[in-house]
Amino acid sequence: MKVAVIGGGAAGLMAAITAARGGHAVTVFERQARVGKKLLTTGNGRCNLTNVAAAPDRYNGGAGEFTRYALDAFGVEDTLAFFRDLGLVTVTEESGRVYPLSDQAGSVVDVLRLSAAGSGAELCCSSEVSRIKKDRRGFTVTAAGSNREFDAVIICCGGRAGGRVGGTALGYELLKSLGHTCTALYPALVQIKTDTDLVRSLKGVRADALIKLTLWDETIARSAGEVQFTDFGISGPAVFEISRAASVHGAGSRVTLDLLRSMETGEAAEIIRNRIAAMPSLTLENLLTGTVHNRLGRVVLKYAGYDINGSVSALTDGDAAKIAAALKSFTLNVTGTLGFEDAQVTVGGIKTGEFDPTTLESRIVPGLYAAGEVLDVDGDCGGFNLQWAWSSGRLAGQLGGGKRR
Ligand SMILES: Cc1cc2nc3c(=O)[nH]c(=O)nc-3n(C[C@H](O)[C@H](O)[C@H](O)COP(=O)(O)OP(=O)(O)OC[C@H]3O[C@@H](n4cnc5c(N)ncnc54)[C@H](O)[C@@H]3O)c2cc1C
Repeated sequence: MKVAVIGGGAAGLMAAITAARGGHAVTVFERQARVGKKLLTTGNGRCNLTNVAAAPDRYNGGAGEFTRYALDAFGVEDTLAFFRDLGLVTVTEESGRVYPLSDQAGSVVDVLRLSAAGSGAELCCSSEVSRIKKDRRGFTVTAAGSNREFDAVIICCGGRAGGRVGGTALGYELLKSLGHTCTALYPALVQIKTDTDLVRSLKGVRADALIKLTLWDETIARSAGEVQFTDFGISGPAVFEISRAASVHGAGSRVTLDLLRSMETGEAAEIIRNRIAAMPSLTLENLLTGTVHNRLGRVVLKYAGYDINGSVSALTDGDAAKIAAALKSFTLNVTGTLGFEDAQVTVGGIKTGEFDPTTLESRIVPGLYAAGEVLDVDGDCGGFNLQWAWSSGRLAGQLGGGKRR
């Protein structure tokens, strides 16, 4: 069969290699000057290519069940074996995240690109597909002004996230033009914007915290780990993990940081009481020195309602308890998130119910397949989104031939 793969990213390269190895004549259309441009930026340039914990429950918003077949058919072990066969040596970190030993995302792109070309796939770069038409004979794909005919098309255009590195809405538009439906889209794995009065002076400060996101007093997401303060709000791995809920629910939610997660409030109050007793001549400015980052300590005191120029000797046991409580529940109002430009993944996409999860073939247009982030599948931070790209790209590239009978 003549097969067009639209998009030369993670899912597209996997689909192209699979289809070409299956004996099909494959053409990859990539709008950017090179394939795998977004891949190059993943994992801070290191490419966190999968996670040993990849399973349907790591995909959000009801997408889990849809991913099950693809992940079962081509899971983490299969992915690692696939890359090993291409010559990529990987390292699995204690967290379960897998990276190339070279620590260079370029290694992942290179082995995929070489394998795609070596398998006989034609790579057409700087070729943006603007239209796909289906008739009884097959598909007409229009790219860079010229038309080509194909028997099957696999759409792997990715999502809107990572706009600076190629994230676009073009895949949704192509699929909508063929009768598919797109859900609402939100940026996720992204920085959270908060009221800036308190955080502005904390720019660059890092803290280890338990994070809780609440909406009308109901906890809607939690995480733990590094938080980085910025001039617009908060960032860092633990923040990314709750950003999906912050993005979908928008302004109105509140983020609460437990800045002393290793101890109970009572223990924290005791530390502060002891400090008050030992150093009554200090001003409040230095009360929390050694407990948390100096700048953070001063901001928490202001948040708790204290004048940092006041004298420590004036503080009571009740004040120690109040300051401890502020350290354990430092709360900021969420005003939104940064946008698709800064996000790592798109929440939402083309409705999964319109595709057969065992083949990824459209239930609306026979011969049309989709894989990767263009579908309404988003995973947790840590390699899960690329695993979906590999698993779904692999399944779609089998063009129905991988279905277990
Ligand atoms: C900064 C950043 C860091 C990330 N880090 C990680 C990480 O470490 N681990 C992880 O698991 N995930 C990570 N992700 C998410 C991951 O990169 C994506 O989920 C994954 O790349 C999706 O694969 P895809 O093939 O669906 O889309 P993409 O990899 O985005 O590929 C889609 C391709 O299609 C092309 N295209 C689009 N429209 C057209 C068209 N009309 N014609 C021709 N070509 C077109 C695009 O140019 C692009 O090359 C990160 C994302 C970003 C933005």
